[in-house]
Amino acid sequence: MPVLNRFLNSELGRRWKAGEELLPSSVWTLSTYQQGALTMELPELIQLVKLVWKSKHNLQGQKKRGIFENEDALSNYQGEARVREQAGVLSERRGSFPFIDFRLLNTTANSGEIGTKKKLKRLLSFQRYFHASRLLRGIVPQTSLHLLDGDYLGQAGHMLSKVGAWNFDIFLFDRLTNGNSLVTLLCHLFNGHGLIHHFQLDMVKLHQFLVMVQEDYHSQNPYHNAVHAADVTQAMHCYLKEPRLARYLTPLDIFLGLLAATSHDVDHPGVNQPFLVKTKHHLASLYQNVSVLENHHWRSTVGMLRESGLLSHLPVEMTQEIEQQLGSLILATDISRQNEFLSSFKTHLDNDDLSLEVAEHRHFMLQIALKCADICNPCRVWEMSKQWSERVCEEFYRQGDLERKFELEISPLCNQHMDTVPAIQIGFMTYLVEPLFDEWRRFTDNTPLTEAMMSHLRKNKARWRALHHNQHHRGDDGSGQRSEVVESGP
Ligand SMILES: [Zn+2]
Repeated sequence: MPVLNRFLNSELGRRWKAGEELLPSSVWTLSTYQQGALTMELPELIQLVKLVWKSKHNLQGQKKRGIFENEDALSNYQGEARVREQAGVLSERRGSFPFIDFRLLNTTANSGEIGTKKKLKRLLSFQRYFHASRLLRGIVPQTSLHLLDGDYLGQAGHMLSKVGAWNFDIFLFDRLTNGNSLVTLLCHLFNGHGLIHHFQLDMVKLHQFLVMVQEDYHSQNPYHNAVHAADVTQAMHCYLKEPRLARYLTPLDIFLGLLAATSHDVDHPGVNQPFLVKTKHHLASLYQNVSVLENHHWRSTVGMLRESGLLSHLPVEMTQEIEQQLGSLILATDISRQNEFLSSFKTHLDNDDLSLEVAEHRHFMLQIALKCADICNPCRVWEMSKQWSERVCEEFYRQGDLERKFELEISPLCNQHMDTVPAIQIGFMTYLVEPLFDEWRRFTDNTPLTEAMMSHLRKNKARWRALHHNQHHRGDDGSGQRSEVVESGP
């Protein structure tokens, strides 16, 4: 923190002043997105990236330098898919680790090739670490930039004009952007918040970094995938607009908040920490069983930041401080530390001693905002909230199925024969979501957003209770299988 304080009065770290073009409160409005001198519409942004890439590729072709320098196999590079093919890297199998391929596990286990705990451990410990793959992933696929053309781009652009609305449909946005919701959303938010201009970010490096992050999420995870990251980032964007917070935030705070939200679950293996611990995964020993996943998300993000060179033009002390603060934010999402943060938050509110002029206090509130964004699914409109609930339970059940198959103890909430979606959701809301959002409401002081979230939370819980009640009274069908969640009631 002290290092950053030195920059507070400098151009990069200075706080926005009222009336400035980049003032957060003005950036929030649609008119600023349309009229701001330093902001661009999405199609222009994409166009700019295309132009820069084209010129960079020409340059690379002439010089035969950079990432191709020592890679003979890549000299005929004609696009990322081909490079991956040459390197033997399937699109779903990047160099990220831990990587647990459920399809492989299911297929091979069913065919009897794998059936012992020993083999499972070996499989889970297998580090699929292609040294060059991160470099390869730094190459932006030529085709991805064309996916946003035409009607879809228009519709996605229209959706982005309402990116600050709480009912923003991230699933629809992901379809309209052809699975590029995280990259597209972040480009838009960084641009809209004036961060690209403020931090003098290189558009190509930014795009490279975001593509790396998006691709390091495992799209086969039902829940912990890039759409969840985009959803959390959109929620974070909404929270950063809350008046009590917004008036104090510096560009650096907004940069860190959005960046942490984007990368907070990167390379998530789709299983939880206890699973990694009991299967003696190398990450569990690396981080000594403490915030294993969160440490990995943070370290992976730092690796990608350095590799992309996104911050390489900033003073080294500043990038180090950014990396540290990013870690502190991502580590705060460890749900096992919920009580620690909740009691600090309560104490601050009881004592009314949060001074958001103080950098440490703003950082604490960014941690709280990120925690809220991470578990805000039950506060969304029912249709989206229900989808997220089913997805997270599906991920739990997959872990439980794995544990059953390989005769490991089935983790809590992961037994699809015992733990129903309504029961899991009611517990989640009661013990984690409601206590945190009750305090968040005290902090924001009943803003329209908070009112809307609390209202959804109440209604959604009532719906899950009704579904739970129905299941209970039907006595299920006796098959032992979980029932499909059928919407009933209002
Ligand atoms: Zn998350």
